[in-house]
Amino acid sequence: MDAFAHRLNMNLARAQPSATYRMMDRAAARRASGASVISLSAGEPDFDTPEHVREAAIEAIRAGHTRYTQVAGMRSLHEAVAAKFQRENGLDVGWQDTIVCSGGKQVIYNALAATLNEGDEVIVPAPYWVSYPEMVSLCGAQPVVVSCGVESSFKLTPHALSQAIGPRTRWLILNSPSNPTGAVYTRDELAALADVLLAHPHVLVLSDDIYEHLIFDGVPFHTIAQVEPRLAARTLTMNGVSKAYAMTGWRIGYGTGPRWLLDAMEKLQSQQTSGASSISQHAALAALTGTQDCITKSRIAFEQRRNLVVDLINVATGLTCSRPGGAFYAFASCSALLGMTTPAGKVLRSDEDVATALLDEAGIATVHGSAFGVGHYIRIAYALDDAALTDACRIIGSFCSSLSRGVAAHG
Ligand code: GLU
Repeated sequence: MDAFAHRLNMNLARAQPSATYRMMDRAAARRASGASVISLSAGEPDFDTPEHVREAAIEAIRAGHTRYTQVAGMRSLHEAVAAKFQRENGLDVGWQDTIVCSGGKQVIYNALAATLNEGDEVIVPAPYWVSYPEMVSLCGAQPVVVSCGVESSFKLTPHALSQAIGPRTRWLILNSPSNPTGAVYTRDELAALADVLLAHPHVLVLSDDIYEHLIFDGVPFHTIAQVEPRLAARTLTMNGVSKAYAMTGWRIGYGTGPRWLLDAMEKLQSQQTSGASSISQHAALAALTGTQDCITKSRIAFEQRRNLVVDLINVATGLTCSRPGGAFYAFASCSALLGMTTPAGKVLRSDEDVATALLDEAGIATVHGSAFGVGHYIRIAYALDDAALTDACRIIGSFCSSLSRGVAAHG
């Protein structure tokens, strides 16, 4: 069998496996081997899916809704998605202008796969979610990574955008609130980016709004197609039920965009998955049309957790972290730890070394910043209860204090 291993698809062979999943798997493996591990690696809410959503899924099974649905999703779910985009985002969307896929990831992947050709470029502001550049590469195109440092609050500026756009630019990917930094674009910031985009009509925009409801301090959410309606005809606005309703395992994502794009994505899906799980679609329908109480509850909980974690991380020697405006990630600089030596004798030469030593020596799983396109950081997902987060931050603090300056004899 090994003789075939070199004949993988070239784009796949070049791609990296998902760094978030790699860390989640490593944490699970350590736990399975008996070690005590607190995982701050997985980007998923720790809450249960709301009761009425679970009941709707059970009812769907009982009622026999166990067959194929339409490829792009059930009509009733399209209507619920369209109503959501109208109600919450002010987008002028009919039910035919929506698509349902097996998770938000598939909305993004299918949009890219449906539109990218070799030589095309996709602008990916960094820090980015680990999967954007890899998905672009899997589709045979070129990610154009634009570094957005802490000085611009990890956000893309109009100047950096206009410098990055070229004749081969096919897409710009925006993500607010951001994974991994929690940065939130204001209306004015989106309007300024939109001004640049209006001058470049060949560029499509992918707005990943999956963390829409996890936005703190009373700040309102904005999405670019709403801020600049003239971009709507070339914007894919995508979202999903995973983060808003604690439904990561149900795998339902959805989007709205121009019909030509949705048609192409549907064609792809018809040859690929045939559509999302019928039971999960019924669950998503209940989530979007039922009480929205869980959204407020989880936002309040995550805002408190953000405050707790950011305050505790900032007292850990060598870590600094700004206060993110949304999502459930703290993105902490670990540059002051580099060059130091752990009690086990490991010299920390990179943020990946920091994340690895934190897991191996302290039992805390995080994800290294370089997986998100920016070195010298670690991402801390604060999707655990207050007690576990307090413990985890205390352990991180002790780990940092245990580091020493000299070079280890056996490092
Ligand atoms: N989006 C989450 C994260 O960043 C889930 C894992 C993934 O799909 O990357 O951790």
